[in-house]
Amino acid sequence: MFMISKVYNLFLQSNGVSTDTRDDLTNKIFFALKGPNFNGNKFAAKALEQGAIAAVIDEPEYATSDKTFLVSDVLTFLQELATHHRIQLNPKVIALTGSNGKTTTKELLFSVLKQNFSVQCTKGNLNNHIGVPLTLLSCRAETEILIVEMGANHPKEIELLASIAKPLHGLITNIGKAHLEGFGSIEGVDRSKRELFDFINNQPEGFCFINNNDPFLAKAKNNYQRIILYGAESNYKFSPIENENPMLTGALNIDGQKIEVETQLIGEYNSDNVLAAATIGAYLGMDLRTIKKGLESYQPENSRSQLAQGKRNKLFLDAYNANPTSVSHAIRSFAKFKGEKLAIIGAMKEGGENSSKEHEEIADLLSSLEIPHFLIGAEFNGISNPKTLGYYPTWKALVEGENNLNDFSGKNILIKGSRSVGLENLVPHL
Ligand code: ATP
Ligand code: MG
Repeated sequence: MFMISKVYNLFLQSNGVSTDTRDDLTNKIFFALKGPNFNGNKFAAKALEQGAIAAVIDEPEYATSDKTFLVSDVLTFLQELATHHRIQLNPKVIALTGSNGKTTTKELLFSVLKQNFSVQCTKGNLNNHIGVPLTLLSCRAETEILIVEMGANHPKEIELLASIAKPLHGLITNIGKAHLEGFGSIEGVDRSKRELFDFINNQPEGFCFINNNDPFLAKAKNNYQRIILYGAESNYKFSPIENENPMLTGALNIDGQKIEVETQLIGEYNSDNVLAAATIGAYLGMDLRTIKKGLESYQPENSRSQLAQGKRNKLFLDAYNANPTSVSHAIRSFAKFKGEKLAIIGAMKEGGENSSKEHEEIADLLSSLEIPHFLIGAEFNGISNPKTLGYYPTWKALVEGENNLNDFSGKNILIKGSRSVGLENLVPHL
């Protein structure tokens, strides 16, 4: 505790913390984290030279100055410092986890809440055992609400992140087939994501926001004492309205009051994300018009649920990540659009033992919905369906392939795949 208060006092006078000597380190505290291929301790002296006011290290041979603070484990210390800061400032911490849509929901919620409150949230996708402490340390004295995204690919990770962030409220976007290699099965995903609700349940106050449209969460809701339901059979609903506009538009119904919301997101699967953000806004006392404004002003980035104009085609770009649940949702919602369609689907990494079956099912779904498609990535090798136009191991191979992409024009093209497949590189060719 002595070391925590010492470093915390420095932190209060600093410009924040950093774990990377490529950052501007002026007046920051450097945390010498270790990874499989690097040892931050080796960079401590450099960080101090670059203007850091202190370096927290865990290998004694690097304790070369009175500005180095030797602790037993830098990562644990970073997490403890973050918890200490969270307890000192005591904002309302809202934690978000789930298989799909965490970042989108977080950004929508931020966009809604920032109109009425002083809010901070996770930057980008910094949602793991390092990102969560960094988010907590970004909290300022004036911050009323801190939104913390929590990601996990193994059991007990959410439990750890919740013990670090100590959320008041928790929301699980959904339970889906993502990171099955770490969780074993969808039941494993369910148990692990619900570690967040287990934490909230053991606190004296705070709510579990439960997506009653999700079969796993709906089934689990009776395990929790203080719940707010949204979706099916609840007072909070969002019903998509079909129209020519590919952007998701829907009727938001909060406690019997209705308003139409026109988002800047593509894909009906975003309905639950929109509703989750609206529900928390309403719970915090915001009026319907302000909630609508916040939802409508959010523009996605990083190839998440974005509509993009290619050279010759309209692109439904969703190349940020992919798992069996999000890919089938994307395909089903794309199938509803009018006009000539083409899908370019990238492999789903992190598929677990059923991976080849999951890939076959995606190709089957495309064919059953009559959508001509290209399949990209080794996981699709050998899979072909009546509507498959071709298989290519990489996006480059597709661009160079005999099925020339220049032949496609005036089409609606869905681009969906795991980030590592790099399908966003196709945009200039379409
Ligand atoms: P990560 O695990 O990388 O942090 P995430 O949970 O934060 O992902 P987002 O970044 O918001 O998720 O969205 C990633 C992709 O997941 C989207 O581009 C979309 O394809 C899909 N997706 C988003 N929301 C949902 C949802 N509610 N249901 C199913 N799929 C969704
Ligand atoms: Mg995310």
